Amino acid sequence: MKWWQLALAAGAAAGLLTAQPVFAADSQVIRNEWQDEHLGPGVARWVDEDGNVWDQPGVRPDMADAAEGNGAAADENGTAEAAGDGTQENTADGVPTGDGVPSGDGASQPAAEDAAQETGRIIDPSKPMVALTFDDGPYGPVGNRILDCLAQYNGRATFYVVGERVPAEAAEMQRIVAEGHEIGNHTYSHKYLNKLNTAQIRQEIDRCADTVQSVCGVRPATVRLPGGNKNATVLAAVQEPIVLWNVDTLDWKTRNAQQTVSAVLDHVQDGDIILMHELYQASGDAALQIIPELTNRGYQLVTVSEMAQYRRGGLQNGQIYYSMKPQ
Ligand SMILES: [Zn+2]
Repeated sequence: MKWWQLALAAGAAAGLLTAQPVFAADSQVIRNEWQDEHLGPGVARWVDEDGNVWDQPGVRPDMADAAEGNGAAADENGTAEAAGDGTQENTADGVPTGDGVPSGDGASQPAAEDAAQETGRIIDPSKPMVALTFDDGPYGPVGNRILDCLAQYNGRATFYVVGERVPAEAAEMQRIVAEGHEIGNHTYSHKYLNKLNTAQIRQEIDRCADTVQSVCGVRPATVRLPGGNKNATVLAAVQEPIVLWNVDTLDWKTRNAQQTVSAVLDHVQDGDIILMHELYQASGDAALQIIPELTNRGYQLVTVSEMAQYRRGGLQNGQIYYSMKPQ
């Protein structure tokens, strides 16, 4: 049984829906790092330097210390708590002039560019933007509902797909690309990379990218680490830009649309990268509320590459992005 089948089966058991996380504080020896507690796909627990455990929905704690040895990530995180003020203060560094369509990632996302041009979609870097990300798919029954809603509101999102699921969902993959969304690399089989050696890590990344490319003709520009789990070996092996998140809906755990909606709408700020999962109908239900309301509030729904283009002048290899607040 694959991990997502386990996850779906577990979701059918009412016990999981109300289960509380098991705390094992006395076992926490690593601080300022994601703890692999096998809580579920795509999510681990954050433990800060004082041993406080974070596993609640919403915005993560300040992660300024999260990126030892990675100045860019610290820089990303350093702005996280200050986002409440000056959200309109965008220096527009690196923002291309002209028609407002990003040009930096054309090689990896040509379809996104074309779709943006065709729809006349223009991103205003001076206005708020949010990157919705959907992990662990593709899964057509939920993904197509999300895509329908994004199309209705002319929004874009990023789908971090698991490579071994891709061939069976070729139609959805091709739709994602055709409608201007971004496909990200969530490894081939969703193994926690901090458990693997360098060769195994590269195989997980490259095999996913190869599969995506063979099915829909684009190569993912960024990597999302399963569970957010990383160590020095992972960071050395993954040269691609790593995109994590700063708003964790815990949708996989609650399987509750309203809780997922609240986790986003009660906390959302300009530059957020929001983590949801494509495997659950409740997450699709939530997306159908979140997408219209964010649009109504004036947020531009952008891909992570678009956000990087407008907020950081493009993606950089070897860097970790948790959010992209205005600078
Ligand atoms: Zn995942």
